[in-house]
Amino acid sequence: MRRELALLFAPRSLALVGVSSKKESLSGRLLANLARGGFPGAIYPVNPKAREIAGLASYPTVAELPEVPDCAIVMVPREASLEAVEACLAKGIKALVLITAGFREGGPEGQALERAIVARVREAGAVLLGPNCMGVVNTDPAVRLDATFSPVAPRPGHVAFASHSGALGVALFEQAEEVGLGISMFVSLGNSAVVNTCDALEVFAQDQRTRAVMLYLEAIEEPQRFLTLARQLCQQKPVVVLKAGRTEAGQRAASSHTGALAAQDRAVEALLRQAGCVRATTLAEFLDLARTFERVKAPRGRRVAVLSNAGGPAIAACDALAQSGLELAALAPETKAKLRAFLPPEASVANPVDMLPSARPEDFRQALELVAADPNVDSVITITVTPPLAPAQEVARALASTQVGVPFLPVFMTSPGFYRESLAIPGLPPVFRFPEEAVKALAARLQAAACAQRPWGEAPVFRPAQIPQKEGYLGPAEAFQLVAEAGIPVAPYAVAKSLDELPAKAQQVGYPLVLKAFGTQLVHKSELAAVALDLRDEAALLAAASAMGQRLAQSGITPEGFLLQRFFTGGRELILGISRDPAFGALVACGLGGVAVEVWQDVSFRFAPCSREEARAMLQELRGKKLLGPFRGQPPVNLEAVEETIVRLGALAAGVPELVEADINPLLAFPQGVVAVDVRLRLAFGSS
Ligand code: ADP
Ligand code: MG
Repeated sequence: MRRELALLFAPRSLALVGVSSKKESLSGRLLANLARGGFPGAIYPVNPKAREIAGLASYPTVAELPEVPDCAIVMVPREASLEAVEACLAKGIKALVLITAGFREGGPEGQALERAIVARVREAGAVLLGPNCMGVVNTDPAVRLDATFSPVAPRPGHVAFASHSGALGVALFEQAEEVGLGISMFVSLGNSAVVNTCDALEVFAQDQRTRAVMLYLEAIEEPQRFLTLARQLCQQKPVVVLKAGRTEAGQRAASSHTGALAAQDRAVEALLRQAGCVRATTLAEFLDLARTFERVKAPRGRRVAVLSNAGGPAIAACDALAQSGLELAALAPETKAKLRAFLPPEASVANPVDMLPSARPEDFRQALELVAADPNVDSVITITVTPPLAPAQEVARALASTQVGVPFLPVFMTSPGFYRESLAIPGLPPVFRFPEEAVKALAARLQAAACAQRPWGEAPVFRPAQIPQKEGYLGPAEAFQLVAEAGIPVAPYAVAKSLDELPAKAQQVGYPLVLKAFGTQLVHKSELAAVALDLRDEAALLAAASAMGQRLAQSGITPEGFLLQRFFTGGRELILGISRDPAFGALVACGLGGVAVEVWQDVSFRFAPCSREEARAMLQELRGKKLLGPFRGQPPVNLEAVEETIVRLGALAAGVPELVEADINPLLAFPQGVVAVDVRLRLAFGSS
C-alpha cells in the first residue's frame, strides 16, 4: 500500500483547514467527533479569524503550522478550495480530505476546479479523498479516527465500508448501532477524484482488523483494476456490494449525484460476479449480509438444520432454504434418538425440529448442541417465537452459551425491545427477525465462500493471423471463417453468388440443407423469409430459391448472394455474443436462444477473456439452464462444448479489439457437441 494512503486512513496528526469556531457548524461537528472518538494525535485547526477553537490553538494559515501533519481535512468554501489545497501541498502534506462540495457534480465551473485540484495533488504525489465527501473513519484503537459529521459514533468492529454516498454511510452508522454491525473503517469516496474504490480495496485488504467489506457504489471507476483487486480481496474476506442504479431511473439519479459515468448494469453485474463479490439488492439486505459476514464463518456445506419452537416459521425457513439452493439436512438416527429422549412426545425430531412452544432455554441449548454435532449438518438456523414459559432473552443466552462447531444463525420473532438487549449478550451471532432473512444471509455467506475457493482458471486470448480490413458487418463467409479460426465449430457451408451456382455448391455441403439469402439489407433473415430450412434435394432447393428471390424482390431487396448450410435437427438453441461497454471493455454474453432470448432476457455476462470456470458459472446462472439438461426424453447437451465455445469467443473478443460486436444466434447444442449456424460480426477500426 502506498504510504500516502496509510496517512489518509491512519494519520497521527491532522490539520483542519477552514474549521469554524461555531460548534453547530458541520466543521465544528467534525472536530467534536474527533474528540468524541478520542483521536490521540495532534489536531491543528486552521482559521484566519480564530486564535483558539474548542480549546485547541488555531493557526491563521497552513504555512504557519508547527509541523507537517499527516493529513489535512479541508472544509473551506469552494471558491477557496484550490488555494487551500495548494497551501497544504506546499507545506508537504501528502494526504488530503476535501469535504467541500460543488465540483464535478455542480456544473462546468466545478468540473474545471476539480480538474485543477486533481492535477496539483497528482503533481505533488499526494492523495486526496473527495471532494464532496463526508470523511473517513478508522476505529482501530491505535488510530481512533472519526473525521465525519456523523451524529452517532461508529460502533467499532470488523467491517470496512467504502461508500459513494457519504450520507448513506452515516445513515448506516445509526442502523449499524441498531443491529450490532461493527465498523473497522469507513470511507466516504465522494467524487472519487483521486482516491477511489480501488484504493479503498487496497487498504481494506491489508487491514488486519477488517474481516468483511461493504461497498456502496454508484460507479466503478477503474473496472479492470477493480476486477484484479476485488478478486484478490474476495479470496481473503467476503465482500458485499450494493450497486446503485440497477434501473435506468436509478442510473440517472446516480449520474447526477456524484457525476459518475453510469455503466450499464449488466456490465457491473458481470464484473462483480467475476470478482466474487456478493451483491445485495436492498439496503436492508446490504446490512444483513455485512453483519453476517463480519461474525459468521462460512459453513462447510449446504445442509442446514432448522430448530424451532413454532411450526409455521420453520416451514417458512424450509421454503426459503429450497429457494436459495440450500438443503434441509437429514439428521442422523442417533441425533433424532437423543432429541427424542428429552423433548415431549409430540415434538418433531426430524428436520425441521419442532420443539413446541413449551421448549425451555435449556432445551434450545441442548438441541442446538446435538444437531450442530450431527455430521450431516453444516449449519443451523434456530427460530424462537416468544416462548410462553421463559423470556426470549434467556433463550438467547442459552444459545450463546453453546460451543458449537458449525455456524448458527438465531431468528427471534418477539417483542421489539428484545433486539437491542440481545446485542449485549456475548457470543450471540447476529440476530434476525424473520427466517427468510437468516436464510438469505446464510446463502450469501456460502456464496462468498464458494467465490473465495473458486479457481480463476486460465483465460486464453486469441488473435487470428488475418483479420478482414473491412469496416462494418462482415459477410457470412468471412464471419464463419473468423470464428472457425478461433476454434468455434461452424456448420459446413458454401456461398453461391447466383442461383446458377446453387446445385454445385449444394453438392459440396450435402443435403439436407438450409438456404439463406444474405446482404446488407438482410439483418434478420428469417423475418424477411430469407431462410429456408430442411431442403432435401435439388428440386426443393431450386424451388425455395426462386420463391425466396421473388419474395425479396417484392420487398425491394436484392440479395448479395446465398448461403448454403448443412441442416441440423434436434439442437437446442443458445445465443452467444460479444459487446463492448464504453467504460468497461469487452463482455461475452451467453443465453438461451430462439425467441425466448427477447422475452426472458435470460443472459449472463463476463468480461473477456474468460476462463472455463467462468463459462461454467455463466451457464449455471441461466434461469432456464434446465433446458440444456435432460429434457423431454432427450439427453443433456454437451455442456463442456458450450463452455469451450464461450471461452473461445472470449479469447477472440480479447484478442481482436476491432471486433466491436459479435452474435452467434443460434449456436445449436447437441449431446455430441455444438455448431454455430448464424454468425454476425462487426468490425470497427481507427478511433473506436
Ligand atoms: P436470422 O437470425 O437472420 O433470422 P438464422 O440463420 O439464425 O437467421 O436462421 C433462423 C433460424 O433458423 C435459426 O434461429 C434456427 O432456428 C434455424 N436455422 C438456421 N440455420 C439452421 C441450420 N443450419 N440447421 C438447423 N436450423 C437452422
Ligand atoms: Mg439468427
